[in-house]
Amino acid sequence: MNRAPDVLILGAGIGGTALGALLAHQGLDVCILERNAFVGGRCASYRKEGFTIDVFVHMFGRCEKGPFGEILRRAGRPDAIRWWHASPESKPVFFMDEEPFPYPDPSFSSREEIGQVYRAFGLSDEDVRAFFRIWDAIDSMPYEKTFDLDETPYSHWLRQFTNHKTLLALEHQRVLLFSVVTSREASAGEMIRTIQNAQRDANVGYPKGGCSAIPEAFCAIVRECGGRVELERPVRRILVENGKAVGVALEDGTEIRARMVVSNMGIKETMLRFVGKEHLPSEYADRIASLSTGKLVEETPMGMIYLKIALDRPVIEAPLILRNVREGAFEGLMEVMQAMAEDKPPAGYKGINSFIPVPSNMDPDLAPPGRQLVNFYGLAPVASADWDAWVRYHLGYLFSLYPEVRDHLMWYDFSTLSRINKFSGRFQPDIIGIVQSVGQTGRKRPDPVTPVENLFLVGADVGRDNIGTELAAESALRVSELILKS
Ligand SMILES: Cc1cc2nc3c(=O)[nH]c(=O)nc-3n(C[C@H](O)[C@H](O)[C@H](O)COP(=O)(O)OP(=O)(O)OC[C@H]3O[C@@H](n4cnc5c(N)ncnc54)[C@H](O)[C@@H]3O)c2cc1C
Repeated sequence: MNRAPDVLILGAGIGGTALGALLAHQGLDVCILERNAFVGGRCASYRKEGFTIDVFVHMFGRCEKGPFGEILRRAGRPDAIRWWHASPESKPVFFMDEEPFPYPDPSFSSREEIGQVYRAFGLSDEDVRAFFRIWDAIDSMPYEKTFDLDETPYSHWLRQFTNHKTLLALEHQRVLLFSVVTSREASAGEMIRTIQNAQRDANVGYPKGGCSAIPEAFCAIVRECGGRVELERPVRRILVENGKAVGVALEDGTEIRARMVVSNMGIKETMLRFVGKEHLPSEYADRIASLSTGKLVEETPMGMIYLKIALDRPVIEAPLILRNVREGAFEGLMEVMQAMAEDKPPAGYKGINSFIPVPSNMDPDLAPPGRQLVNFYGLAPVASADWDAWVRYHLGYLFSLYPEVRDHLMWYDFSTLSRINKFSGRFQPDIIGIVQSVGQTGRKRPDPVTPVENLFLVGADVGRDNIGTELAAESALRVSELILKS
């Protein structure tokens, strides 16, 4: 590279690539530096034997109605990502115990249908009314009022509505899926804002081309607008002179200068490793060090396994499958925790949070003609001496739901939690980033503006009111406004 760009973006995750597209479209000279040989960070895909496979299983909350749509509209390419959404012919399924039901979510079902499903789960009319009281309380809460609940755990807030175990287990599952924190840790204010967005848009979906179609679309915009995306360019240091970011030093010793630097490499890693405490006020450095990626990541042996299963013919009709249990969800989770600590799968299937997208039912081009791609996300330890045992445990459950999967299995790949750092470059194998827990949401959410002049942050760590990738995208919208204003 031989010219100093206006903006250097460090990392080609969702946050970095989305910001690149927004700024390049506004005429800024943008250069994205990515340490990996591919873009997308945690939202990356790979190709194998004609299949396009997400490294980590993803579904998307708001799609073209949320921050992704807003970014593409602002970047002048509203249709650059095409989305799958559920239709009457292709509806997600929810297994309650081993019994299949329509998936009770506003993206897929009307309020009446959701009520019917909840009754079929065994809830009484009063319990169903309690469920809709939660729904309505979330929907009708004024935005400003949600901030009063930022320091309240979501589980506490829920207690005013119900003590029903199944209902609580379903809410717990929703919070875990949205934010990868337990409802005891999650901030009620932030969850309410996030659920409000999700409920109002009711637009869960999946991008045609697999999850990496999103960062790839953003990178295509950067390039079309004259910007650059440079792969295998790992950053070693952010250069700070007189309190100002002036560029970066790469691992190979190259120095690149720029007017502005934006890091997508994680708030902790950026400020504590790539900038260094010596350039930061001590109070700020302490606050950054104290930010949490969630107790599940930091304090428990709980990890996950992501199976990507190739079948020689389509076996499953549904595009997406979820599972919960009527009784004993929390006890089951405790049992799995114990099993993870001992690195030995429990007897009987306890995977209350099994999450099974079938990507080739959402985009047939993700599998070769006549084949099927099934993804499976289940609980497993962070590290294991016997991954095969955990694979057998989860595959066995899938076989019990769909016996034909066993007969048509070609091969499977799997990823585990311990591989996430390879994709994110973070200190910890965290799923979302800095989690939306009490003490770090709302007015306490980490800010994209840093004490180092001309240095900003982008990515899920500094995003708000959304889920995972859409947190990162939301942050890109705000950071682009800050940069364009300055
Ligand atoms: C298993 C799993 C399942 C998930 N499921 C969902 C889901 O269903 N829905 C959803 O919306 N979200 C989901 N998420 C969360 C979502 O993927 C993340 O929140 C989001 O992708 C984070 O984006 P980001 O821009 O903050 O950063 P990242 O994806 O972490 O990207 C950071 C980028 O910076 C690069 N980088 C790091 N260090 C350097 C360096 N030194 N030099 C150059 N580049 C560097 C990395 O290589 C990476 O490309 C899931 C995540 C995981 C892991």
